[in-house]
Amino acid sequence: MTPSPTLPDTVFRKEWRWLVLLWLAAGVLMATIMWHERSNMQAIERQRLVHQVRVIHDNLGRQLEAIHRSLSAIAGDVLQLRGQALGTDTLDDRLRTLHGAMSGISSLNVLDEHGTVIASSQDGLRGESLAHRAYFQTARQLAATAPHTLVVGAPARTLLGSWAITLARPVRGVQGRLEGVAIATLDSAAFETLLDSVRYTPDVVSTLVHGDGLRFLAVPDSEQQPGASVAQPGTLFSDHMQGGQPVSLAVGLLEPGQPQRLMALHTIRPDGLHMDKPLVVGVGRDWRLVLAGWYSRALWLGAAWLLAAGASAWWLGRSHRRRRRLWRREQDLAAQQAALQARWRVVLQATQQGVWDWDIAGGAVYFSPVWKSILGYEDADIAATLTERENRIHPDDVALVQADLQRHLRGETPCYDNVHRMRCKDGSYKWVHERGQATERDADGRPLRLIGTHTDVTAQRQHQETLDRLAENVPGVLYQYQREPDGRSHLPYVSRGVQDLYGLSAEQLRANAQSMLECIHPDDLPALQGSVLQSAQTLQLWRAEFRVTLPGRGERWLSGQARPSRTASGAVLWHGYVQDVTAAKQQTLQLQETERLLKHLMQEMPIGLCMTDGAGRIYFRNRRFQELFGYTDAEVGTLQQWRLRAYPDAAYRSQIIASWSAALAQAAKRGGEIAGREVRVTDRDGRMRTMVVGGRVFGDHYMTTFMDLTEQRAQNELLRKLAYRDGLTGLANRRQFDRSLKAEWRRCRRSSKPLALVMIDIDHFKQFNDLYGHQKGDDCLRCVAAALRSALGRPFDLVARYGGEEFVCLLPECDTQGARAIAQSLCHAVQALCIEHRGSQVAQVVTVSAGVASEVPTAQTSPEDLLARADACLYRAKTTGRNRVSDEVVVLL
Ligand code: GH3
Ligand code: MG
Ligand code: MG
Repeated sequence: MTPSPTLPDTVFRKEWRWLVLLWLAAGVLMATIMWHERSNMQAIERQRLVHQVRVIHDNLGRQLEAIHRSLSAIAGDVLQLRGQALGTDTLDDRLRTLHGAMSGISSLNVLDEHGTVIASSQDGLRGESLAHRAYFQTARQLAATAPHTLVVGAPARTLLGSWAITLARPVRGVQGRLEGVAIATLDSAAFETLLDSVRYTPDVVSTLVHGDGLRFLAVPDSEQQPGASVAQPGTLFSDHMQGGQPVSLAVGLLEPGQPQRLMALHTIRPDGLHMDKPLVVGVGRDWRLVLAGWYSRALWLGAAWLLAAGASAWWLGRSHRRRRRLWRREQDLAAQQAALQARWRVVLQATQQGVWDWDIAGGAVYFSPVWKSILGYEDADIAATLTERENRIHPDDVALVQADLQRHLRGETPCYDNVHRMRCKDGSYKWVHERGQATERDADGRPLRLIGTHTDVTAQRQHQETLDRLAENVPGVLYQYQREPDGRSHLPYVSRGVQDLYGLSAEQLRANAQSMLECIHPDDLPALQGSVLQSAQTLQLWRAEFRVTLPGRGERWLSGQARPSRTASGAVLWHGYVQDVTAAKQQTLQLQETERLLKHLMQEMPIGLCMTDGAGRIYFRNRRFQELFGYTDAEVGTLQQWRLRAYPDAAYRSQIIASWSAALAQAAKRGGEIAGREVRVTDRDGRMRTMVVGGRVFGDHYMTTFMDLTEQRAQNELLRKLAYRDGLTGLANRRQFDRSLKAEWRRCRRSSKPLALVMIDIDHFKQFNDLYGHQKGDDCLRCVAAALRSALGRPFDLVARYGGEEFVCLLPECDTQGARAIAQSLCHAVQALCIEHRGSQVAQVVTVSAGVASEVPTAQTSPEDLLARADACLYRAKTTGRNRVSDEVVVLL
């Protein structure tokens, strides 16, 4: 399936939308919290400012009431003064006393009806005219109508030069006339302390303003001087006065040019006091500074929000880029896979390979159209179940197919591979080659899915059957062996003879070549594999001899050769032939052993020996030869070199050459033996040694012996032994037997005495060798020989090794009956050895069969006839069950 090309973009857009929404929500939440905090801060600040302004208001209110009471008292005194009940000096004293008792007052004065100071708490003021002062004018006007009014003068410079507010109270006489004015001057320093006491942070400003808008005092000192007006339109003061409320709280300007402030203003006009003008007190804070902390927090939060939003946007963008890359790669891969699948489909179609794909866990099986068409079915004829396949397998093949499949499912084989018959739609059977491999396994290694091919090999099978019929007539095995470039191998064809060679059926091997390797002797396997590899590389004829070990049959020697060729797919295909060469190999080995033995004997012989070939080359010299003469091999490599050194005197040399030629010529007549003669040989050190030189001719080779006389005698005896004794068993050999047979034949013929022969052959000796090995076989032969020898009682009876595992006894003057008895005792003697033989079909131990023949020799008969008769009897003993003696009458043991 090809994913939609727009898929990631839709997802990405959705993710972007979610991210933006998330951050907007976070922003709104943050803004709400900050706004709430701001409102809280403001509310707290307002409460504080209102509280502080009240503190001043209450304080100042009480003070004004006290001053008013004092001024009222002074007014009484003034009336007494007018009535001359009181002297001016006394009034001065009283003013001074009152002044001392009151706080916040810088002076107390009394003016007459013209505005001249008539009494004062301070010296030097009496006589000063204050008639022009506004408060005096106001007080005079109010004397008639409202004499209890406290006139609050505008802030003005005092006579002493400081700024002050003067509080005045008219004094009314009995007729309603103005009798004077009592005034008190407020001390700005005293109010400064009060105003300062309510400032809870450095930016708090507190101020006291006259009802007309003229400033009296501000803490801390502002740039504006007292007396300046704050009553411009739009200022906080103007708004407060217009509002008419005693307390107001607002953000605004107290004076133009000053910072925005949150300010609480309170009009001071105590209830019981009639004032012509109020005082207004204000406490405020710089609005910007109030919110400074909040602003910086909001700024930080906003910045953090922006940063986090930016980072997450960057991260999402990066993740999108990466995912888009990944997605593109997946797209490419999917496209490649689709192309690959299409190609595979074409290939499978073209090569007529069916495909089956088994979902083991789910149970469903996909069978490709070619799979179905091979068996003659339409696509719709076959359901996607395993039984569709299983039910069509030939009943004879089911077990093998299942075994192979289960082996692979258990993980014992790298792939499943089986050739079997399957039923077609028309009921006929086709040979198919099924191959498969588990492509998915779970954590425990259990296969989850198996994919395989299914190829029609019926034609191939028919071809193979033809080949099989041809190969039946050929000993050994014909085969094809194919090795793939990756090292896997199989046997496309192997003839049925392989059963004898490897103990495996041709079918088994065609399905699995591996089991063949398992039979090969471990010592021979590396060399064998090496030779196969080399042949594959060089494409040269493969040839090898190797052993296989077969259960129940022991070790066998095989010899094979095969010609390699390269197939179109790069594999190497050998066509070859393998045969059993065990017998030949054993003979060769035996020969080699004999040769080795002889060489050893010759080497160790106490006489000098050398061998010369037809070309005069001396190719062997024994140790004694070298000890005697001291020449190195190179010095006497040829006969000519030897003669030049051994016989340095030319005349003597020619004499020796002539006599040697004559001796050689004579040797032919004497059965090859070169008669010994005395010769003077010069050794390497120049010493002359007198030796008896003789020898023996073998074809155009000859052996030369060098010894003194006594040595020669010993040598003769040894040679005789070598010639007439069997090397393995020490018994007389065939040659000795032949000689003795002829001699005894003649003797018995002369004396008309019967001569008997017993031919003895070990039963199932081939199996013995196969089972226990050749070495044990040799040991057995030695034991049997010894038993036969010691079982023969008479000194002139002869037992000889006739060949292989056959023995023959020569019994002079012995008739058939006697010979049979002897033969039976020989058989018993061998059986009594109790040499274990599990391969024998006649006993648990090694046994022999014997054939007996006896006759009185005549001119009409010959020793060969006697031998033939004994042999025929032996044959009968073998064919009638072995482990028995046979002559004319069969006798069971
Ligand atoms: P049967 O009972 O019919 O005589 O069966 P067999 O297996 O004994 O006869 P066969 O002639 O088939 O085999 C003789 C075997 O004796 C073949 C060879 O392997 C073995 N043999 C012959 N000479 C020697 C020898 O010198 N040493 C050993 N170890 N085995 C030998
Ligand atoms: Mg035999
Ligand atoms: Mg035998």
